[in-house]
Amino acid sequence: MGFWIQAFVGLGSNLHEPLQQVQEAIQELKGHRKLRNIQVSDIYASKPVGPQDQPDFINAVASLETQLGPHDLLDLLQSMEQLHGRLRKRHWGERTLDLDLLTYGHAEIRTPRLTVPHPLLFERSFVLYPFNDLAPDFIFNNGLTLSHYLQKVAFDLKTVKKGN
Ligand code: ATP
Ligand code: CA
Ligand code: CA
Repeated sequence: MGFWIQAFVGLGSNLHEPLQQVQEAIQELKGHRKLRNIQVSDIYASKPVGPQDQPDFINAVASLETQLGPHDLLDLLQSMEQLHGRLRKRHWGERTLDLDLLTYGHAEIRTPRLTVPHPLLFERSFVLYPFNDLAPDFIFNNGLTLSHYLQKVAFDLKTVKKGN
């Protein structure tokens, strides 16, 4: 078998009991036989990016270890989204569950299906703050740390639930 790689995943939901959607997704990650050592940030609420006429989001970040390759891990995350009844409506619109692959080890990936690190993670408070709960000293490929990016982004979230 291959190496266990640490990956970070961003979770988001703003439909159909979003807090429950995110908490259930966390339990699914914890129970998945291809994943191990799941750690979860605090849970936050954020205002939507994109269309404003939609509910606030619930956000968290999870760290995991897996032997799956990055595209297989994306398949797993997308199948979880589907099981949560995700329908694609409009760009950056409402959704029951969004699972973004933020980082995969220290890999840089650019394929039609997958860009890693997730290109918007560096500017999104609802990703950076929960990521910081887990790994403030995380060093990206460019040598910059998570806390370097965090400093540039205001805390515009509500903390919904501490300690997971
Ligand atoms: P954003 O990427 O700005 O957060 P989004 O999460 O709303 O937007 P989606 O509709 O969930 O975007 O995903 C669109 C496509 O993005 C997916 O089908 C997937 O192939 C691709 N994608 C590219 N890189 C990633 C990544 N790192 N994590 C998840 N999906 C990715
Ligand atoms: Ca997203
Ligand atoms: Ca997504």
